[in-house]
Amino acid sequence: VTSGAPDRASELSVGVDLGGTNIRVALYRGLRALHAARVAGEPAGAPQPIAWQRELVGDEREPASVAAHLARMVVEVLVAAGATGAPVPVGVGVASMLRGHTGIVANAPNLGWRDVAFGALVTEALARELARAPALPSGAALAAPGPVTLFNDVNAITYGEYALGAAVGARDVLGVYVGTGIGGGIVADGRLIEGASNCAGEIGHFKVAYGDDAPPCGCGLRGCIEAFMGGVHLQERAQRELRAGARSAALRLAGGDPGLVHPGHIDMAAAEGDGYALDLYAEVAPLFAATLGNAINLLNPARLVLGGGVLSRAPVLREHVLTALQVAASRALLDPLTIVEPALGDDAGIVGSALLASERHG
Ligand SMILES: [Zn+2]
Repeated sequence: VTSGAPDRASELSVGVDLGGTNIRVALYRGLRALHAARVAGEPAGAPQPIAWQRELVGDEREPASVAAHLARMVVEVLVAAGATGAPVPVGVGVASMLRGHTGIVANAPNLGWRDVAFGALVTEALARELARAPALPSGAALAAPGPVTLFNDVNAITYGEYALGAAVGARDVLGVYVGTGIGGGIVADGRLIEGASNCAGEIGHFKVAYGDDAPPCGCGLRGCIEAFMGGVHLQERAQRELRAGARSAALRLAGGDPGLVHPGHIDMAAAEGDGYALDLYAEVAPLFAATLGNAINLLNPARLVLGGGVLSRAPVLREHVLTALQVAASRALLDPLTIVEPALGDDAGIVGSALLASERHG
């Protein structure tokens, strides 16, 4: 890496992905310099961590316990890399709405947390872990981890794809991920947009239906696009309707048990021309495309990173969405837009968190 300030090439930062199942921690060197090199078109590979760990969150989900677990992993990767010198900023991506920039997790359904001062807990736990860390063989002091910054997971993922993944070269990027829920992230003119209370990009809760008949969403309201297209909602709806007697090849593909039907079965059925699956897609794909179209009208992105476990396992649904999108925004906004799949896979969030932490505190 030759572009940018030479000292940046040695700059360390830690990215953490705290999901409902795994904690992933990775230590990177020189992410800002790598981003600059990629933007300049210089030959530069994908970001490679110099040390990393992945462990199950486990059953102990009290916030202080998870903070202690995460802090131990962060200090272990610093020890493994023999990190010395300046403090190493730590970015933590959490599947949660945040409460401003206070380090407070407002609502993390995967973890069952509400209004948890998780940033402060991690900072305290890191200090304890650093104090008991083993001495480095060189005798030098281990670099101190911190400060700690929390990010919404999909914001961090989108930033990772913008800086070092599928959207390198674009300055205006929208990331939309359809997994169990639907998350979004916005980069405008090269900056992550976090909004007044750090909740920008909540595209999953765009309203597409109103009234008491609208499906309930995990956010407490009704009619959000997530309540139609989010993986959990799609799956529960199909299971409910098949139990109630709806006929679909998805049931055969799931071995005859409605309780085992998942979005992949529905998509395989749709590929066979199954009426139930195609009717379902004819309802939800235009709603999701309208959501995307509204966001595209608002933001005029150059790149739309469209990913997540549901869309990657449901290629027919993806095609229906892309077809419906053609009439969901005008040509003036669709012509300059390139729709891409994510390039960094599971690493996008830790790369994005580590880079954002480095930019703010490196
Ligand atoms: Zn909602």
